[in-house]
Amino acid sequence: MLESVLVLPKDINDYRPFVGDQRIDEIIAQAAPLRGARVLHLNATAYGGGVAELLSTNVPLLRSVGIDAEWRVMPGGPDLWETTKAIHNLLQGASIAPSSPEASSESIRHRNRRRSIVAPWTPEMAAIWERYNALTAELFDQQYDFVVVHDPQPAGVLHFLLQSSPKASSTKWIWRCHIDLTKARPDAWSFLRPYLAPYDASIFTMQEFVKSDVPTPEVALIAPTIDPLSAKNIELSPSAISEVLHRFGIDPKRPILTQVSRFDPWKDPLGVVDVYKLVRRTVPGLQLLMVGSMATDDPEGFKYFELTARRVGEDPSVHLLTNLSGVGSLEVNALQRASSVVLQKSIREGFGLTVAEALWKARPMVATAVGGIPLQIASGQCGYLVSSNRECAARVQELLANRSLAKEFGTNGRERVRANFLTTTGLSDYLQLFNGLRAQASARVSTFSASRSRL
Ligand code: UDP
Repeated sequence: MLESVLVLPKDINDYRPFVGDQRIDEIIAQAAPLRGARVLHLNATAYGGGVAELLSTNVPLLRSVGIDAEWRVMPGGPDLWETTKAIHNLLQGASIAPSSPEASSESIRHRNRRRSIVAPWTPEMAAIWERYNALTAELFDQQYDFVVVHDPQPAGVLHFLLQSSPKASSTKWIWRCHIDLTKARPDAWSFLRPYLAPYDASIFTMQEFVKSDVPTPEVALIAPTIDPLSAKNIELSPSAISEVLHRFGIDPKRPILTQVSRFDPWKDPLGVVDVYKLVRRTVPGLQLLMVGSMATDDPEGFKYFELTARRVGEDPSVHLLTNLSGVGSLEVNALQRASSVVLQKSIREGFGLTVAEALWKARPMVATAVGGIPLQIASGQCGYLVSSNRECAARVQELLANRSLAKEFGTNGRERVRANFLTTTGLSDYLQLFNGLRAQASARVSTFSASRSRL
């Protein structure tokens, strides 16, 4: 049996204050034809990163509207995580060049062409991935109406299940891709693609991520969403925020620049430090918080934590905070709320839940215009989209100096998230997809454009 992940119960009615009675009633009506349906979400890890964050809300909310939803994880080990990290990096496309204060995105792109830090996809990696996927199929012993398989890690499970028992069941299989595939390396995509062929549908965050040769008959667009009632996003009292700042030695009277992200080259932690150093020239009291949990399936985390610490050097105004130093969801929440400006300096980003989280907390953002970030940040309305460290630093300085603009951005950002990226929207999108697949709609399913307000 595949390991099951326990989730805390949630009640859809608790979300009425955020989105209104009409929206909640619509969702309950959408779920009615699916009452009792068995749904499995299958992914690689129960902790760390955006997928685990999403499932910890989506699964209990599906249950709350009468669906028999489960979350299970595939078996794993260091060899699988090394391998799946490699395919993840290859599917994200380019490699990373080290950041410098002078580095523009153009020069980064130029250096990427010359220097690759990602290894090519090898037969040995393929064998490890296949072995774990075959094992996942062996442990798969339940019947479901819908199975949603997240990302490349367990994507081969259906292939191996079909090898042992050719498809006769009525289960609808859905592959949910959280990755920005726009620059996917052909070797990785052509390896993965045949394993996706037997799926009934795939889900991508944005139209731009959909490869032209996606083999599934249906394609849905569903953006990730955040839970306003999770420990990560719930309202906090000023004293709760102060307590967290005090605990980590952060001065609430001085400006705070924050990035919440795993220590991962794609999140450009070194670039964050460089931007801080640039801003500090004119804002000497600035503090930098880099908050990054160590996901169990992310072997690079410790390496990039160390690299980041080295780039920081001896600077008591910089705080590198992880789950290992006591940062859980509540602490992330408090640190985001205490921030004067929030950064998201990703080089690639499937979506970036951290962006929606900061916008929801009415924080002004400065972020790179990559992947799913522009979907969330309307530049000049709730933050700034930037393409170089210098531009990033200049925008941070502007927002630190102009607090009324920062406040206006914050208010706009919160409303944008309310309209588009709260978990009720994500739930509704899934229900629409399940209903559509049940009805065997022949047209391509596009839940995103149907349910989301105009961005
Ligand atoms: N996160 C966290 N603690 C940390 C760093 C990140 O809980 O120290 C959370 C973050 O708040 C967000 C998720 O992990 O909910 C990261 O999701 P995102 O989509 O931003 O990035 P991913 O890690 O999936 O690439």
